[in-house]
Amino acid sequence: MWRASVITIFPDMFPGPLGASLAGKARAGGIWDLAAVDLRDFATDRHRSVDDTPAGGGPGMVLRADVLARAIDAVAPDTDGRPRLLTSPRGKPLTQARVAALAAGPGVVVVCGRFEGVDERVIAARNLEEVSIGDYVLSGGELAAMVLIDACVRLLPGVMGKEASGAEESFSDGLLEYPHYTRPQIFEGRDIPSILVSGDHGRVAAWRRAEAERLTRERRPDLWAVHTSGMHGAQAPG
Ligand code: SAM
Repeated sequence: MWRASVITIFPDMFPGPLGASLAGKARAGGIWDLAAVDLRDFATDRHRSVDDTPAGGGPGMVLRADVLARAIDAVAPDTDGRPRLLTSPRGKPLTQARVAALAAGPGVVVVCGRFEGVDERVIAARNLEEVSIGDYVLSGGELAAMVLIDACVRLLPGVMGKEASGAEESFSDGLLEYPHYTRPQIFEGRDIPSILVSGDHGRVAAWRRAEAERLTRERRPDLWAVHTSGMHGAQAPG
C-alpha cells in the first residue's frame, strides 16, 4: 500500500478533498493510506509550542528544528524508505515526472511549513527535499501537500479507470493535452471539429497531436523548447 504521512499543525484539515472522489474511493479500497500527524504532539512544553521568533529579528515565527526533527523521526525513521518532502515556495517546482516517480515508490512523508517557514537546520539534518507547487505564496503547506498527494494517488495502479488513463494527459509526453468536445453536436452555433466525428481514427490521432503541439507552442514556450530539443523525459540536472 502506498502511504502518505503529513506532519502539520492542522491535522484536522485532512483528508479534506483527499477523502472524496477518486482519492477517497482508492483510500477506502486500501490502495493508499494517509496519516495526518499533529506537530504539536512533539512539543515538550505545556503550551505545546512548535515555533519561535526568527533569529536576527524580523516579522513572523519559524517552526522549530528540534520539534520538527522529533516528529520526522517518529513518523519516518531512517529505515522507512519514503522520501521526506518539505512544502516550500523556494523548493524545486513539482512536475508530472517527479509525481510519477513518487507514485512509483512506497509513499511520501510531507512536512507542512507554516508562518515564515522552518528552521533551516532541520532541512539538511533530516534530508528534506523542498518542493514548490508554483510561484505564489500560500499561507501554509497543507494545500500544497494535498496537491502533491492527489497528483500521486491518481497514478497508483487501480485508481483511474481505463477510460481516464494518464497516458495521454497533459505533460505525459511533454505536451499540453488536445481540446475535448462532447454532445451536443452544435453548441450556440459552434460545431464539433468535423474530423472528430469522421470515424477516421488515424486522422483523429493526427489532429489531436497537431492541436497538442499548437497549444504547447502558443501557451508554454518553455515546455515547447524542451519538447523540440528532444530532452523530454531526460533526467533534469541536480
Ligand atoms: N516566508 C516564506 C517565503 O517568503 O518563502 C513563505 C512562508 S508561507 C506563508 C508558509 C508555508 O506555506 C511555507 O513554509 C510552505 O510550507 C507553504 N507554502 C507557501 N507557498 C508554497 C508553495 N508555492 N509551494 C509549496 N508550499 C508553499
